[in-house]
Amino acid sequence: MPIITSISVCAARVPLDRVTSFSNRTVSARDYGLVRVTSSEGVSGIGFCYVGSAGGELLPVAVEQILAPVLLGRDSLEVEALWKEMYQEALLQGRAGVVMRAISILDTALWDLNARSVELPLHKYLGATHADRVPAYASGGYYLEGKTPEKLGQEMAHYVSLGFKAVKMKTGRLSPKEEEQRVAAVREAIGPDIELMMDANNAWGDLTEALQYIRRFEKYNPYYIEEPFLVDDIDNHARLARATSIPVATGEVEVGRWRHKELLDKQAAAILQTDAVVCGGISEWRRIAAMAASYGVVMCPHWFHDVHAPLVAATPNARYVEFFWDDQVLNFRKLLDKQLTQENGHIVLHQTPGLGFGFDAGALKRYSISGTEHQPWVTLTR
Ligand SMILES: [Mg+2]
Repeated sequence: MPIITSISVCAARVPLDRVTSFSNRTVSARDYGLVRVTSSEGVSGIGFCYVGSAGGELLPVAVEQILAPVLLGRDSLEVEALWKEMYQEALLQGRAGVVMRAISILDTALWDLNARSVELPLHKYLGATHADRVPAYASGGYYLEGKTPEKLGQEMAHYVSLGFKAVKMKTGRLSPKEEEQRVAAVREAIGPDIELMMDANNAWGDLTEALQYIRRFEKYNPYYIEEPFLVDDIDNHARLARATSIPVATGEVEVGRWRHKELLDKQAAAILQTDAVVCGGISEWRRIAAMAASYGVVMCPHWFHDVHAPLVAATPNARYVEFFWDDQVLNFRKLLDKQLTQENGHIVLHQTPGLGFGFDAGALKRYSISGTEHQPWVTLTR
C-alpha cells in the first residue's frame, strides 16, 4: 500500500521576457505553485498551478498549514476520500481561489503518483480515448507594443504554417472599430477554413457594450468568444449566448462542480474551459467533464497543455488542448525538464509513466521565492 510519506512545496516567480497585455491588464511576471508528493514506495507525483501575477507565497502556506496534514500518512490510492477531506478541511479558507488551487495540484500529484506507481502514462491510467496524440489549437495574439493588425495576422498565419487548424487571439482592449480591424486581418491571413477563437478576458461590462464588438465579429465566423464578462456574471454570458451566432466559452477560473452546473443550467457556455489545476484537480475536472457531456457541452481546457493533454486524451467530450508555441506567455515551460511537442496541429503525448516530465532543478533554484537559496522546496513529513 503506497503511503504518503512527504509533501514538498515551492513557489516560483518567472519574469516575462516582454511585458504582455490582455484586454484589461498587463503582466510582467508570473507566480507558480508547485508540489511534489512522495510515497513509501519511493515514487513521486507532481502538481503545479498559476497563482497570479503576484502572491505566489500564499500557496505554500495553504499546503503547509491546511492540506498536507490531511494527506501525510494516508494511502495515495484513496484519491476520492482524500479530495473530500481536503475540501472539507479547507471549507472556511477555501472553496475557490488559491486554496482550491492548492487542493487541485495536490489532487493532480496523487493521480500522477498513482499512474507512475503502476508505470502507466497518465492518459492510459485515466482510460485513454486517444493513445498517441490530441488535437491542439495555437494560443497567442496578445497585445504587444507596436503590434499592428498586419503583424497579428502574420503571427496567426505562422501558427497555421506550423500545421495548426485552429488559432486563438486576444480581443476587447481597443475600440470596436480597431478590434474589427484586428480580427479582419487575422481572418484574411489564415483563410476561411481555420477555426478562430477570440478571448476577451472579461473585457465588457454589460450586454450592450459586448454587442458593439460582437456584431462586428460575427461576419468573420469565430469558433467562439471567450470570457466576454466577469466570470461571476453568468446571466450576461447566457444573454449574450442567446443574442449572437458566436458560441460563448468560459470557465477558466471557475471552480467546483456546483458552479459549473449553474453555467450549464443557464446555458451560459457552449464550451467549458475548465482548468484542472484551478477547478479542484483531476478528480473534480473529470466530474465536471462528465456532467458537461450530459448537457452536450464540449471541454477545451485552459492553458497548461502539460496537464491537459492527457486529460483531453482521456475524455470523450473534450475537443482541443490549448497550446502555447513558445515559453513567452506560458513561461511555466521554463520550469520543466521535458516539453510536449506538436505535429500538424496535434500534441504528441508522453508515453512515459504519469505526466511524463518533472521539474528542472536548476530553473527552480533560479526562480524560487520560497525555501532557501540552495533548497527551493519546503518538505513536510509526518
Ligand atoms: Mg482565456
